[in-house]
Amino acid sequence: MPKIHKLLVANRGEIALRIMRTAREMGIQTVAIYSEADRNALHVRYADESVCVGPAPSSESYLRADVIIDVCNRLNVDAIHPGYGFLSENANFARLVREAGLIFIGPSPESIEVMGSKLAAKAAVAHYNIPMVPGTPSAITDRAEAKIISSQIGYPILIKASAGGGGKGMRVVENEVEFDEQMDRAVSEAQSAFGDGSVFIEKYVTSPRHVEIQVLGDQHGNIIHLFERECSVQRRHQKVVEEAPSAILTPEIRDAMGRAAVDVARACGYYGAGTVEFIVNDALDFYFLEMNTRLQVEHPVTEQITGVDLVKQMIYIAEGKPLTIKQEDLQIKGHAVEVRVYAEDPANNFLPDVGTLDTYVRPQGNGVRVDDGFEQGMAIPIYYDPMIAKLITYGDTREEAIQKMIRAIDEYQISGVQTTLPFCRFVMEHDAFRSGHFDTGFVSKYFTPDKLTPTPDVTETELAAVLAAYLLENTKPKSNGSATVTTQKSKWKANRLG
Ligand code: ADP
Ligand code: ADP
Ligand code: MG
Repeated sequence: MPKIHKLLVANRGEIALRIMRTAREMGIQTVAIYSEADRNALHVRYADESVCVGPAPSSESYLRADVIIDVCNRLNVDAIHPGYGFLSENANFARLVREAGLIFIGPSPESIEVMGSKLAAKAAVAHYNIPMVPGTPSAITDRAEAKIISSQIGYPILIKASAGGGGKGMRVVENEVEFDEQMDRAVSEAQSAFGDGSVFIEKYVTSPRHVEIQVLGDQHGNIIHLFERECSVQRRHQKVVEEAPSAILTPEIRDAMGRAAVDVARACGYYGAGTVEFIVNDALDFYFLEMNTRLQVEHPVTEQITGVDLVKQMIYIAEGKPLTIKQEDLQIKGHAVEVRVYAEDPANNFLPDVGTLDTYVRPQGNGVRVDDGFEQGMAIPIYYDPMIAKLITYGDTREEAIQKMIRAIDEYQISGVQTTLPFCRFVMEHDAFRSGHFDTGFVSKYFTPDKLTPTPDVTETELAAVLAAYLLENTKPKSNGSATVTTQKSKWKANRLG
């Protein structure tokens, strides 16, 4: 069995660090790659060796398969972990890695290929009894026919890019009048984002919840699942808050979804860590959406409730070791919540707000985990995903994990950029989230910027200006104007001090 001595992480930011930490614990040497924009990044400092692979744009650095493999050969690297995003779901890259005699820490190129196409994935699992959303089984070539199918399925429908990912290339069509326009948009978005304009139709599940199952498979045909993650709080079809377990699944549904996920993995001869995504309706019927053939952004919540280090398992599997964890050994213990801290302005449509982290102080303490890639004073490059950190809390119960999250959010001090933290706090406080009765429409249904409590980086000057304006407007109050001001001010103070 091959043993991995030296590992190159073909990624950046928090996930590069997260992978290297486990490698270090396992006594494996680490190699970082970086672009010119990431010279001072934490993953570069953390690694035993690091190599600049090109200029800032990812197409000239993090996506340069040839350069990365060359670095491996030069530095006697045995294996490559691709993280998520970048080359992680690129079957050609996995193939090149294999041909270069290196270990790709992930599934086979064949599995990546099948699951990389949502249509091929559906075809592959067709022999198994996996529930699927009604829709077209192949790419749409004839619009007239597609319209007939759409009215049979019943509006609203969703047009989706077969090669899609990251919530891109997806269009909801409410009725036939909108069909052509949305179709044009979906095709052109799919073409420009994925270089493949193939789209298909799915019924739009109303009040949908996104629930996914983590799987692990070894190279000997053993596949297990590590329960679910609930990821229904999304903006632009992309997750911002995740938790495990889901507040709504019964043990029976959990078991059925787990078995379906294992079947999906089996259908493509899967090994490594993977995620099978389902959409769940309000009657708790679940339907297979797609499989992500990589480590997922939100994997820490699963690690917290199962005690399994997923990266460690990925490395063992890549070395050819059989899984030592049995399905019956696994148990859900406690509850974990993750919020994604993006440099985005929730008050302005979640538009990226990159800049320099003038203040950056992480929360700490019992049940708090921060996976990030930044330090105070660092700039968030415009070239990549604007995620600053993942903040994860863990408690015995859901309530406890949420309370810890609110405490941790209040203690997180970030200034210089707007972040999704105030939005995440709003979610944690919201009755719908608290009660567990929410779906992917959460943001559009409940959120408006005026719901945000001021962020910790309100400056004294801004505070003074707001107070002055408030006092001016309330020069003839009946009685309790100033009491309100005091409360408001102390709340801001509390936030500022964290
Ligand atoms: P997750 O389910 O892990 O949250 P996301 O869909 O949010 O997955 O994607 C994780 C990361 O991978 C993000 O940085 C996203 O931008 C990137 N990503 C996902 N799919 C693609 C794709 N097809 N092409 C390029 N980047 C992608
Ligand atoms: P991606 O590859 O972009 O992650 P997915 O198929 O996983 O694409 O869908 C992303 C998100 O879009 C889901 O989490 C869900 O919120 C929404 N979605 C996808 N398919 C449907 C559907 N048929 N009905 C309702 N919502 C859907
Ligand atoms: Mg998805």
